Amino acid sequence: MQLARFPRIRLAHLPTPLEPLDRLSAALGGPEIWIKRDDCTGLSTGGNKTRKLEFLMAEAVAQGADIVLTQGATQSNHARQTAAFAARLGIDCHILLENRTGSNDPNYNVNGNVFLDHLHGATMERCPGGIDMNAKLAEAAERCAAEGRKPYAIPGGGSNPTGALGYVDAAFELVRQADGIGLNIDHLIHATGSAGTQAGLVVGLKAVNAGIPLLGIGVRAERKTQEENVYRLALATADTLGQPNLVKREDVVADTSYVGPGYGLPTPGMIEAVEMFARLEGILLDPVYSGKGAAGLIDLVRKGRFKKNEKVVFLHTGGSAALFGYTAVFGEPASVAA
Ligand SMILES: *Cc1c(COP(=O)(O)O)cnc(C)c1O
Repeated sequence: MQLARFPRIRLAHLPTPLEPLDRLSAALGGPEIWIKRDDCTGLSTGGNKTRKLEFLMAEAVAQGADIVLTQGATQSNHARQTAAFAARLGIDCHILLENRTGSNDPNYNVNGNVFLDHLHGATMERCPGGIDMNAKLAEAAERCAAEGRKPYAIPGGGSNPTGALGYVDAAFELVRQADGIGLNIDHLIHATGSAGTQAGLVVGLKAVNAGIPLLGIGVRAERKTQEENVYRLALATADTLGQPNLVKREDVVADTSYVGPGYGLPTPGMIEAVEMFARLEGILLDPVYSGKGAAGLIDLVRKGRFKKNEKVVFLHTGGSAALFGYTAVFGEPASVAA
């Protein structure tokens, strides 16, 4: 299967680094934990959506779009990377933000990713939590078309077969990179949400017969729903690549025990994970995705899920900009006397 058959605008900084986390591994007493730095994709503080957008935005350009629209939760990293990518291409960007967490913390609502969306020149619409955001997105795109514009709508998280190609490629990249340094990967772990990252990785790992078990740590849905979402998208992605029988249901594994009270809501494990990565490794996770993914990783290590000499790669999917929407969760006061 050749990814070069698909239009792509290459602006991610690739390959992203693959590095050992010596102090975290020592603090946990093994296994050997490595990190794949997809927080360093290079666009407006980085993150996993940039790989997907290389394929999605190429499709938008090929279709002659003059405005891209997308949707996400208020602190959406996907929305921020879409706004930055659009700015880079000179295309307008309109974002629908859902108040999915119900937070009224001013930092959550205007700082972090929201601030960056504005800085990149995107226009924004706020929506109440719990509504059908993809239906809202379709309506907004229809409104643009009625005004004579050429809209291109990107689903939440950029998760469709086109976007998932970015993570098929990431799987190829990781396997090549690990082979290059003689790293025999026993497990690959990452945070899974709208499913495109895990779906693309499953397809890419199977396509090269890597034999690396992949575990998605859920941030929203319960296990069965999450696995089925990933599986459905993996099948569609494999189909797009002309390999319809590549992925089996049992290739898709998610652990959704670390969601806590809900999407975007803090948990003690997330806070501990963000602080451990910051203090032991100088690496910024995020409170919604990679922090909960790392909380899962740390808990599974403590429960003895991995052998001491095994090599576990944590895919860092980015999101640190959202930290500035969550400062109160980490005990920072809203202001201090001058
Ligand atoms: C979107 C996102 C994820 C989840 O990726 P999906 O492809 O939506 O499953 C993980 N981490 C961060 C930081 C994200 O922004």
